[in-house]
Amino acid sequence: MNTTQERMQTTEAAAARMFSDDACIDIIPFCNKYNVKCFFDDEGTVKNANIMPSDDAQGQFKIYVNPNHSKQRIRFSIAHELSHRILHEEEILKKGRVDRQSAQSLDLKKEKEADKLAARILMPKQVVLEKMHQLSLQKDETVPESAVQSLCEYFQVSFPAMIIRLRNLGYYVSHHSY
Ligand SMILES: [Zn+2]
Repeated sequence: MNTTQERMQTTEAAAARMFSDDACIDIIPFCNKYNVKCFFDDEGTVKNANIMPSDDAQGQFKIYVNPNHSKQRIRFSIAHELSHRILHEEEILKKGRVDRQSAQSLDLKKEKEADKLAARILMPKQVVLEKMHQLSLQKDETVPESAVQSLCEYFQVSFPAMIIRLRNLGYYVSHHSY
């Protein structure tokens, strides 16, 4: 039985292999590796995203995501739900559906775990360190806003998500209110 930390580590390493010099991870095929299919919610009932077991096949899951959000937000929402499938499969099966909103959300600790793994999938440590090296940025200097912007473009994540990730990895990003 893998611990949560080990599962996060393995998933982050698998995600890191999906990056190339000029392209970040494509989250939908990555989900398929974990037997998860993604769909846009065209009925407008899903606020962010949710995940549930697939009706047709055991061990398969499906994510519904709000198509009206930005591409960056959609990617993060999908990575968050995928993280529940990787870390909290039993809870999904027990609840039938897991959704950040309402009574369908998991406890705060598990929601935070899913956010943490989502960030590691979309911005694996190894890849961030390589990019920072290419930008000639060291941990003891302030990361300029222009660098954060170019990292957002490469990783296809929002500005706040990138800043939080950089800070978690020990980089200094100044004066933003995130
Ligand atoms: Zn969640």
